[in-house]
Amino acid sequence: MKSYENLFIDGAWVAPVQRGTFESIDPSTEEVIAKVAAATAEDVDLAVRAARKAFDEGPWPRMTGAERAAVLRKIGAGIRDRIQELAKIEVRDNGKPLPEALWDLGDAAGCFEFYANLAEKLDENAETQVALSDDRFSSVARREPVGVAGAIIPWNFPMLMASWKVAPALAAGCTMVLKPSELTSLTVLELADIAVAAKLPAGVLNIVTGLGKDAGAPLSEHPDIDKLAFTGSVPTGSRIMQAAARDIKNVSLELGGKSPFIVFDDSDIDAAVEWIMFGIFWNQGEVCSATSRVLVQRGIYDRLLERLKEQTKKISIGNGLEDGVLLGPIVSKGQFEKVQEAVERGKTEGARLVTGGGRPAHLNKGFFMEPVVFVDVPEESWVWNEEIFGPVVCIRPFDDEGEAVRSANNSRFGLAAAVMSNDIPRCERVARALRAGIVWINCSQPTFTEAPWGGYKQSGIGRELGEWGLNNYLETKQITRYESAKPWGWYIK
Ligand code: NAD
Repeated sequence: MKSYENLFIDGAWVAPVQRGTFESIDPSTEEVIAKVAAATAEDVDLAVRAARKAFDEGPWPRMTGAERAAVLRKIGAGIRDRIQELAKIEVRDNGKPLPEALWDLGDAAGCFEFYANLAEKLDENAETQVALSDDRFSSVARREPVGVAGAIIPWNFPMLMASWKVAPALAAGCTMVLKPSELTSLTVLELADIAVAAKLPAGVLNIVTGLGKDAGAPLSEHPDIDKLAFTGSVPTGSRIMQAAARDIKNVSLELGGKSPFIVFDDSDIDAAVEWIMFGIFWNQGEVCSATSRVLVQRGIYDRLLERLKEQTKKISIGNGLEDGVLLGPIVSKGQFEKVQEAVERGKTEGARLVTGGGRPAHLNKGFFMEPVVFVDVPEESWVWNEEIFGPVVCIRPFDDEGEAVRSANNSRFGLAAAVMSNDIPRCERVARALRAGIVWINCSQPTFTEAPWGGYKQSGIGRELGEWGLNNYLETKQITRYESAKPWGWYIK
């Protein structure tokens, strides 16, 4: 593999000031696949200065939306041109199955194309007339880029999470410093080359790889950052918010979840089983919106569990580069151990383990585990309430709609939720009663760039994607004009 030992600052590849590196490990083989540049506060400062200069003096915020859109479309095309190669890098870095990586990268390219369209529209809709109650004045509300954005992202969808932040920030006219997760830096570094080929001006996008405490913390604390956009865990989100509070930075947070899935007993069992599986086993369950708490109505509880067990045992586990694999390894040794500990904890808390938890017999290397189904999970247990972030589903029975909604809403999180029934009015009613930012009816997980994404309660602040994602990177200015050349008449009559 090529070298990833440099940072991307001010349009150039530069070695970190302290020349540090850390290792990136393939979770399928446990082999080191790359040495990656380890940024420290000095590098972050250089990157922020470059972004600041590009914002204050450079062409990017001053270009028309259509000009920025042309660059964004080239970035989207650049991802598509290299999609096979990038997907393979992402599989080696993260572990996910290749078809899922291809899917993510297609979505990442689509995200740049979507925000290119919105950048173009800004040429027409950046300013709107505001009707005032006093006709001696006129006023417009104008949307302008918020400035220099600092973006910090997790490891579960490396390029997609980068695109969810980079595409709208650039569309808005911001400049930025992006820090990927230390577990999955490689495709995000490739994005720098794609941006250079698309002729993105120097300093507009800077990428600093490194550890959270060494590179993420100085980025979140940097006084020259105007906006912080973070996706990751609740504890880190809280730290980011505290850093933002110090100098009142604009902040948006996409955090964790323990999302419920309510299945009523008039549902088709196979459809329910498939969406339950997709909701928690897709991407190894390392999905912020994973529907990891499932409430099944008692009438179909036993039949559904039987079918779920049978299908879960059939999931093919292995290296994501192999044909037919549907579940790859957990991303890292540390995360693997956390998930294993959670499974042990569930057992001691009285959850009944129906299947999974062990190492697949045919795999003796890599952070692989069989997907877990826990049933009859006590409502007050840790595994029912806390995010495990792995292929572990917790299931409970319920009797009526009121009980299901109450139990679903009984959480400090509120990212996503799902409901399944043949009774569509019931689904619509339950969807409106659920306290979550994303609710799926008769499915779980499909995600569209056009629709808002984000959480209630401790799952976050603000929304990404769609128009909402662009607004994250825009400030609103009012420009109010006094229409008369004569004195106002307060002091001078
Ligand atoms: P994490 O919070 O450990 O790390 C996220 C990022 O923050 C990484 O880049 C990390 O290096 C950085 N970081 C760590 N400490 C920091 C600090 N003190 N200051 C600044 N940055 C710091 O989360 P993770 O383990 O990478 O990702 C898993 C979490 O992300 C889960 O909780 C999951 O639910 C959440 N997530 C949420 C969404 C969403 O859209 N809501 C999407 C994906 C993941």
